[in-house]
Amino acid sequence: MRRTGKWRWLLLLPLAGLALTGCKGTLWSKKDEVRIGKEVSLEVEKAYKLDPNPAHQQRVQLIGQRLLTVAKVEPYEYTFKVLDSEEVNAFALPGGPVYVMRGLLEMVGNDDDELACVIGHELAHINRRHAAKQVTRGTWASVLIALGTKGKVRDIAEISAALLQLKYSRNQEYEADRLGLEYAYQSGYDPNGMIRFFQKLLAKQKEGDKGILANLRTHPLTENRIWRARQHIEKLTGKPAQEAKP
Ligand SMILES: [Zn+2]
Repeated sequence: MRRTGKWRWLLLLPLAGLALTGCKGTLWSKKDEVRIGKEVSLEVEKAYKLDPNPAHQQRVQLIGQRLLTVAKVEPYEYTFKVLDSEEVNAFALPGGPVYVMRGLLEMVGNDDDELACVIGHELAHINRRHAAKQVTRGTWASVLIALGTKGKVRDIAEISAALLQLKYSRNQEYEADRLGLEYAYQSGYDPNGMIRFFQKLLAKQKEGDKGILANLRTHPLTENRIWRARQHIEKLTGKPAQEAKP
């Protein structure tokens, strides 16, 4: 199929960004989520090219696999890929696909702990079924239930468009931050990476880098997330959270 108007929603996908990606009361089964995630990921990878740098792909996969040693939930089929985009963004699809944009890799530099916390956050959205929960609550529910549970996804464009409009609740974002930190810590990364990441984000937001960070508007205020992350790190590690160097 040619990439015509029908696929234009894909260009908007990063706006949903970190928002795209909970276990009770959902209308999709976990297997539905896996199927839907796979279908949508095919479209994502048509619209965005994968980052051609194998070192980038390998780095994200290695970190993802290490997090999975503590974060794996059946029957999800996790994948970790880098998309060739300058945006500072990462997002997950229901059932397993995790995407990191090249622009985010560039922002974290060589700090694997930061990246592990970001990927952990995305894994938490998948594992806690946040998208499925939001879809179930939303006005899209009837369309999505019909499309999502008929054995075959018949109109992926509609599901994708619905996922695009999906916003996580503030509490889901806090939960993803908290769980992401735990995954990172339990698999041997420094959870203070989360604070360093947020502080870089905050600096960028203060620069007014609106285009690049549009997606992050769906997230709770960064200062608030830093404060919560700090509390959780102290609980988790029994040590004071570390400030990032200015
Ligand atoms: Zn999120």
